[in-house]
Amino acid sequence: MNHDCELVSDSAKEIWDKCLSIIKDIVPEAAFSTWFKPIVPSTYDGKALLIKVPSNFFMEYLEEHYYDILKAVLTKVLGKGFKLNYSVLVEKKNDTTVVYPSGQTTPTSHATTGFDPFSEKSHHKIDSQLNPAYTMDSFVEGKCNKLARSAGMAIAQNPGKTFNPMFVFGGSGLGKTHLVQAIGSMAEELHPEKNILYVPASKFQSQFQEAMLANKLNDFLNFYKMIDILIVDDIQDFVGKTGTQNTFFQIFNHLHQSGKQLILTSDRSPKLLAQFEERMLSRFKWGLHAELEKPDVETRKAILRRKIAEDGLTIPEDVIDYIAKSVSESIRAIEGVVISLLAQSTLTNAEINLDLARRVVGSTVNVEEKDITIFSIQEAVCAHYHLNVNDIQTKSRKREVVQARQVAMYLARKYTKNSLSSIGEQIGNRDHATVLHACKTVTDLIDIDKDMRFSLDAIESSLK
Ligand code: ADP
Ligand code: MG
Repeated sequence: MNHDCELVSDSAKEIWDKCLSIIKDIVPEAAFSTWFKPIVPSTYDGKALLIKVPSNFFMEYLEEHYYDILKAVLTKVLGKGFKLNYSVLVEKKNDTTVVYPSGQTTPTSHATTGFDPFSEKSHHKIDSQLNPAYTMDSFVEGKCNKLARSAGMAIAQNPGKTFNPMFVFGGSGLGKTHLVQAIGSMAEELHPEKNILYVPASKFQSQFQEAMLANKLNDFLNFYKMIDILIVDDIQDFVGKTGTQNTFFQIFNHLHQSGKQLILTSDRSPKLLAQFEERMLSRFKWGLHAELEKPDVETRKAILRRKIAEDGLTIPEDVIDYIAKSVSESIRAIEGVVISLLAQSTLTNAEINLDLARRVVGSTVNVEEKDITIFSIQEAVCAHYHLNVNDIQTKSRKREVVQARQVAMYLARKYTKNSLSSIGEQIGNRDHATVLHACKTVTDLIDIDKDMRFSLDAIESSLK
């Protein structure tokens, strides 16, 4: 019995060694030692190879970055039809420890040559990364943003002392980025001694991964812990990224406890940040939630006048009226129309009148690009199948629910950059294997099932 087991693991080891010898030539050395060396081959039963990885984050990272390589190499070594299973060795849920792929919990960093963004020491002022074009002054006030704007000004005046964290949410193009950057700039002017940093969540995520790779997590943490006002844009990008969320949680707590200001934005309310860790969500409740709503006609007109004046254009009132009434979705769309109008009138030397405005609105508004997110995909899929968005989040095995869930997973894989496990977590809290299976099922159905092709066409065109 014992002997059998040993035989099995021996062959797992042999297989894995073969894989490693191929992978070694394909991926860079640093990546190879960080992401492949720590893997421990466990068992092989003639079909499925089980490998042990240090953490969920590690598994997710492998799936996201090395899925194709792993698949190709294993196919080469084992032939088609193999299965790859993971088992996670350690997963510490501790607030302050971040599990390291190499097993270390407190990595030591060695001085290297070259520029290192995280090596600055405490007293240094850091570059805030703020865009000076986004000011409070150029952020037109309206009913749709009054609360958020005035709360933001209060925060800029007294950072850490009023609302903390400030959580700004609202649809795409409604001014989240502009507003939070304006708060940062105003604070920078009023408190030049403070360290202020604006960072998109996706950038934080990639910095974190690079820091892990370079064994510089401590520098990364120290850098973030010396900030007085931290602005993180689009935190919905953290959904499903457990490792990043853990680290952000740690920084968040540290700054909050030291009375430092946090400002966060998201394309949906905290309630809808599905699968964001509960302990993180409960922190958001401490602060202020400010929603940016769609602008009403009056605000749209005010914004239009402002943009037009900025561009040095003059436009008749009836044109302003027409644009304000026909472009209502987002402020970004309104800006798009102004830019096109300016371009059209200079290119053709034409006067800006109602006629030109109609043509420009007709051609710009329809081609406005929408952000395709897992969330918007779920909405579109459920609308198509006449389901409630919550239905596919449940464990239901009803045929139509299962199909909708699989289609949502397939489209999420096709249109977003999320990893398999991140897609699974956001759609019904399933694992990466379920997502992989869903993608395969839908791909197979496309070839043989007319209804499936029809449904996909309809859903995909409603997404774009
Ligand atoms: P979001 O981050 O919510 O997607 P942005 O902040 O990028 O939206 O805003 C989209 C565009 O609309 C930006 O160019 C921004 O300057 C402009 N904008 C948004 N809200 C306002 C406002 N209240 N006044 C003036 N311009 C605005
Ligand atoms: Mg934005």
